[in-house]
Amino acid sequence: MPNDTRRSGSCLCGGIQFSVTGDPFRIGLCHCKDCRKASGSTFSTFAVWPLEAFETTGIVSSYGDRSFCPTCGGRVPLVRENEVEVTIGSLDEVPTEGLEPSYELWINRREHWLQPLPGARQFEHDRVEDGSTNDGLTTEPVSEGAETPLSA
Ligand SMILES: [Zn+2]
Ligand SMILES: [Zn+2]
Repeated sequence: MPNDTRRSGSCLCGGIQFSVTGDPFRIGLCHCKDCRKASGSTFSTFAVWPLEAFETTGIVSSYGDRSFCPTCGGRVPLVRENEVEVTIGSLDEVPTEGLEPSYELWINRREHWLQPLPGARQFEHDRVEDGSTNDGLTTEPVSEGAETPLSA
């Protein structure tokens, strides 16, 4: 039963428009230094879709593992080889439906006034697959591509 829900999004100024269709591979929440510094917020929430689910218009700038609008600086989807990472706040729907994170990264950096997200898997650093909870997701690092993955 394919889900053909189409979600639209944009940067702050609207110069970059995009859409993603269907269900994402995974949805996460990250407290790492890069996510903090890049967003200016205390964590980021993102969802990863297959590349073929993604369409976009506009000129994108990039720095490391982040893409943004050169005009307004708003974060826009990061395109990888086979997938695209979308910061959920860049979507137009507010609040979003059906995009609740299932895991939380770099929890040692979580602000003390935030609580663990109920039901979300908790990771000290980047996401690791331990085999026992194989949910069919891909195994690429989510947002800290250059960081050393933990070995089991
Ligand atoms: Zn913009
Ligand atoms: Zn992060």
